[in-house]
Amino acid sequence: MNKTWQTRLVHPDARAPQGYRSLATPVYRGSTTLFSSAAEVTDEWDQERAGYTYGLYGTPTTLELAARIRELEGGRHTILAPGGQAAIALIDLAFLQAGDHVLVPLSVYRPNRVLTTSLLSKFGVSATFYDPLAGAAIEELIRKNTRLIWTESPGSVTMEVQDVPAIAAAAHAHDVRVVLDNTWAAGILFDAFAHGVDVAMQAITKYVGGHSDLLLGSVTVREEALYERLGAARQVLGCAVSPDDCSLALRGLQTLGVRLSAVEESALELARWLAERPEVEVVLHPALASCPGHRFWRRDFTGSSGVFSIVLAPGVSRRQVFDFVDALELFEVGYSWAGTTSLAVAYTIGSRPGRPAYDHRLVRFSVGLESTADLIADVERALAILHD
Ligand SMILES: *Cc1c(COP(=O)(O)O)cnc(C)c1O
Repeated sequence: MNKTWQTRLVHPDARAPQGYRSLATPVYRGSTTLFSSAAEVTDEWDQERAGYTYGLYGTPTTLELAARIRELEGGRHTILAPGGQAAIALIDLAFLQAGDHVLVPLSVYRPNRVLTTSLLSKFGVSATFYDPLAGAAIEELIRKNTRLIWTESPGSVTMEVQDVPAIAAAAHAHDVRVVLDNTWAAGILFDAFAHGVDVAMQAITKYVGGHSDLLLGSVTVREEALYERLGAARQVLGCAVSPDDCSLALRGLQTLGVRLSAVEESALELARWLAERPEVEVVLHPALASCPGHRFWRRDFTGSSGVFSIVLAPGVSRRQVFDFVDALELFEVGYSWAGTTSLAVAYTIGSRPGRPAYDHRLVRFSVGLESTADLIADVERALAILHD
């Protein structure tokens, strides 16, 4: 066909040479995915079954990340979401319906709790918030209409390590599914499926991304029936992920091992140092005996990451806690941990059934890749503020 130059802009004959090989996964951007014939057009979401049909359901870049997360977590299928919170919402919307009941730990990531109390309740799903240390006693809270038990271990901010196998055993005895938010362990330091979890999610935003520059989440399952429900829900919710973000996450995966080792060592050293300080009442680090549920960490985890909390000694004012955080020079103040820069955030934890109130005295740290000696010196300098 003879083409004008305007047409050639869209339909060129020019091509780059073939045969290029690189270590990097190419970024395939795409909404439209081409079919080879009119009869082949289909809106099937499962790209493993139907081949590529639409960018929302996957491109080679997004599906490579999904496949690699599935492999690392020992699942059979992984579906990506635009963020960790989107992955949480996808799970709830895929598996719950009006009349159902869900169990959620008191220590859950706060936006998960808010999703439950605001949106799910509007759609007729009821919830009970349970003591994260309930273990096998969770059975007493399971009702006829309970469909899901959320777990998050350790819990956000307050760091309780859960007895996930005991919870899973109780759940499965009543045909209830168990979901785990495995973000702290990067989907690696705790083997979700080996401990009875049915649905494992994590915020890829955190350790897999690792550089505070992307938002992604993942949901991994073993059972086909669970994959079908998640895939169908993802299709109608339109939870698309950016191939550019996935390519950053694929790069993050390559250094995840060395980053996790580095922050594990550094965070442990800082946590043990803090445990000796008179300004600190308790260190909530899963690998320290002072952390609630520490024995489950020792039994079930293969390591620790770089996030932990401290509770400052009684008598400290809220203003002093803020002054302490602001006096830190290397620890920046901000959400979304697991990047290369250390972070600190002050939290107020009121009284919760069965758990101590830490009030305004809790500070959560995310340890980054600065040298440990500098981080300790920074915290030591900032602690002096409490004596002013
Ligand atoms: C950050 C976080 C999420 C949410 O991830 P986003 O990608 O920020 O939406 C979920 N769960 C836990 C435990 C988190 O720390």
